[in-house]
Amino acid sequence: MLLFTPGPTPVPESVRLAMATPTLHHRTPEFEAIFKETRELLFKLFNTDEVIMLASSGTGAMEAAVTNLCHDTLLSVNSGKFGERFGKIAKAHGLNNVEIKHAWDTPATVEEVVEAVKANPSLDAIAIQVSESAGGLRHPVEAIAKAVKTINPNIMIIADGITAVGVEPIDVLHIDCLIAGSQKALMLPPGLSILGLSNAAIKKVGEGKGYYLNLASEIKKQSQNTTAYTAATTLIIGLGAILKEIEQNGGLDTLYADTALRAKATAKALEAIGLHLYPHTPALSMSTIDDNNAKEIRDLLKTDFGVNVAGGQDHLKGKIFRINQMGLIEPYEMVAVVNAVELALDRLGRRAFDGTASRVFHEIYYALESK
Ligand SMILES: *Cc1c(COP(=O)(O)O)cnc(C)c1O
Repeated sequence: MLLFTPGPTPVPESVRLAMATPTLHHRTPEFEAIFKETRELLFKLFNTDEVIMLASSGTGAMEAAVTNLCHDTLLSVNSGKFGERFGKIAKAHGLNNVEIKHAWDTPATVEEVVEAVKANPSLDAIAIQVSESAGGLRHPVEAIAKAVKTINPNIMIIADGITAVGVEPIDVLHIDCLIAGSQKALMLPPGLSILGLSNAAIKKVGEGKGYYLNLASEIKKQSQNTTAYTAATTLIIGLGAILKEIEQNGGLDTLYADTALRAKATAKALEAIGLHLYPHTPALSMSTIDDNNAKEIRDLLKTDFGVNVAGGQDHLKGKIFRINQMGLIEPYEMVAVVNAVELALDRLGRRAFDGTASRVFHEIYYALESK
């Protein structure tokens, strides 16, 4: 079975083997050396002033970011389940929440965020997804961050990059906190989250808030290559291994270029067989299709063609399907996926199979169309 869900993503063999080594004690020079090496690789990935690893799923990092960086009012952008979550976290901690809400195919605009900032003087942090996985869309986070900082540089910009870090380069110049999670673009098992922080964010964290998710405790310890509590040693070893695997595959620029090209070729292949991309601004992390037969297509992919893709959640259940683009993915695997989608359409009597999806994918991926 090909695993093509936008998280969890397949864990490469080199990473699985690295994680199969005997368990190390976390308070040892041996583990601290691994921690240090992994931290250095993370700095290259995040380009932020500090990076912090937490033993939690992605939501733990979202909660840590909100509680440590917002002290009054959080503006959250809700264009899907994960954006909605930021508002829920703020409310759970007694913070004020202003929400910009959109349909799941619609990104936020710079103008509406600027308007909300001007209308709410108590606002001290903004939380938004770079890639909102619920509908597979890309928000203009960098432009929003820049505009907000022009109005008030003290407003903290929290960017959930759980399906964006490791997918595409993110300009962190105006971002104070960039979040990643292990089981999405980083191709690891679930259970580790990472926060990249700006110096301004470190200042705002101050003494920190909360206990386990107190970022001040972690900043202090992790800058000394250890953790406040027991480190997720196995996952951190895996993280070091995947970051090295990415380097061996040509580095981050190659990963970003491959991902962008593969996402483009997939989108064109699916459109060529009559399918429609759901989001107005598709993220590179996944290819999201809305279709009346979404459920049937997804079921056929799994039962008849050995491909596991994700469906939709809540009101989009049975209405969309999402194909992962994150990670080190061979083009021939993606060809198998778009080909299987075309076969499923044939089975459903929608369109006679003629190999169009595979042909279009190859033409674009290998630039054959220009010849
Ligand atoms: C998966 C995901 C999360 C949350 O992750 P968990 O690891 O399930 O806590 C948050 N934001 C986005 C954009 C995601 O895709």
